Amino acid sequence: MEVIFLGTGTSQGIPIIGSDHPVCKSEDPRDKRLRVSVLVSWDDYTYVVDCGPDFRQQMLSNDVRRIDGVLFTHEHADHTMGLDDIRPFFFRQGDIPIYAHKRVMEALRIRFDYIFSSENKYPGAPSVIENVLTNQPFALGNLDVIPINASHNRLQVFGFRFGEFAYLTDVKTVAAEEVKKLKGLKVLVVNALRIEAHHSHFNLEEALQFIEEVAPEKAYLTHISPNLGFHAAVEKTLPEHVFIAYDNLKITI
Ligand SMILES: [Zn+2]
Repeated sequence: MEVIFLGTGTSQGIPIIGSDHPVCKSEDPRDKRLRVSVLVSWDDYTYVVDCGPDFRQQMLSNDVRRIDGVLFTHEHADHTMGLDDIRPFFFRQGDIPIYAHKRVMEALRIRFDYIFSSENKYPGAPSVIENVLTNQPFALGNLDVIPINASHNRLQVFGFRFGEFAYLTDVKTVAAEEVKKLKGLKVLVVNALRIEAHHSHFNLEEALQFIEEVAPEKAYLTHISPNLGFHAAVEKTLPEHVFIAYDNLKITI
């Protein structure tokens, strides 16, 4: 399995428009972060988790020619606003399967009504195949993917376990029975927004505690804000098996 970090930044991305924060001015390419998303590929299958405002740029930078579907963690704009840009895939492949909680699907139907409408459809608008997720394993290609139910303050979010790889973002709390689903991982990805506490995201300390509890072989941090600090400086302070993800990083599991 191959995972490409398409984006590793918080909702505004880094740099933030008009910001003089030193991390926003950093010349280290690892400090430039598009909105969070990963591309997960195995055998002949390729799926994207989340489809934010930078989706088009992310597909171009990584020369992605085909996707088998898009999985959504939740409905916030930084995870969904690129959905219209599935058009090139739709033109070549036909209707694109999407996977989301019922509530997220409803939010997408409101924001992208023209994608979901079945009558008088604008020629050129993309179409999707809706797959509503519950907290039960579901088939993706030849793999059973396990949803991990978690909370982003009061909002439900899904993380996803693909074999020995799991991806969780925008998480603040995870119930003990959901943590059990994450045992025996080679790689865990989890959000670590910043150093200070936040109402709906793990900060660095909480992310590290969570990694200790899950005990994967390796862990990568994502959904990073300028207030986590410079990539190079913060990574030096982390345990040996924990890394900060950066845009276009490719890992093999
Ligand atoms: Zn987010």
